[in-house]
Amino acid sequence: MDERLETILCSRYPKLLPTEGPGCFQFFGFECQDGWFGLIYAACELIQTHANRTGSGQAIASQVKEKFGGLRFYCRGGDDYVESVVELVERLSESICELCGAPGRIRERNGWLSARCQLHEEETEPSLRETSEWISRGDSMAAVLEAALRLFAFDARETSRWLTSPARALGMKTPLEHLQEHHGYRDVLRLIGRIEYGASA
Ligand SMILES: [Zn+2]
Repeated sequence: MDERLETILCSRYPKLLPTEGPGCFQFFGFECQDGWFGLIYAACELIQTHANRTGSGQAIASQVKEKFGGLRFYCRGGDDYVESVVELVERLSESICELCGAPGRIRERNGWLSARCQLHEEETEPSLRETSEWISRGDSMAAVLEAALRLFAFDARETSRWLTSPARALGMKTPLEHLQEHHGYRDVLRLIGRIEYGASA
């Protein structure tokens, strides 16, 4: 991952991603491409906010990497909520291009599995974006994942299934795809709100 993006994560979430001390995170770094920055950022945001709010044990990430085409976010010391967040972002990574963050799927090439959009099916070079754009994507992702997890009672599998299934209210795009649209996250949050209201009405 681009060093600037790694620095943003480590400086925003020093408790979750310690860069000093025994077993520190810096040893491995982030062994994946920039396209998953939004997912990793969202996971860190949710996990750290949860720890700050509830006073539950501080989770510490030990390794964040790509494996078999998907994201692996290894951490220790977390509770059930942390497990749900980690499972959710790992599942969603298979539907997000590791190079550019656009909707994608697991594709096989020369025996290697990787999550790629159509455009990057043959590419191995990361796509360059402004840092501010990556952060704004991360913020949108965090807001949507938080709301969606709550909607599905923190069931990561159900949350992931909903986020990657076409929704009529979004013109048959999946909520994850719709996040790519300008201000698309607002539509997705509104939809979650409507479902919540409908369910409790
Ligand atoms: Zn791509």
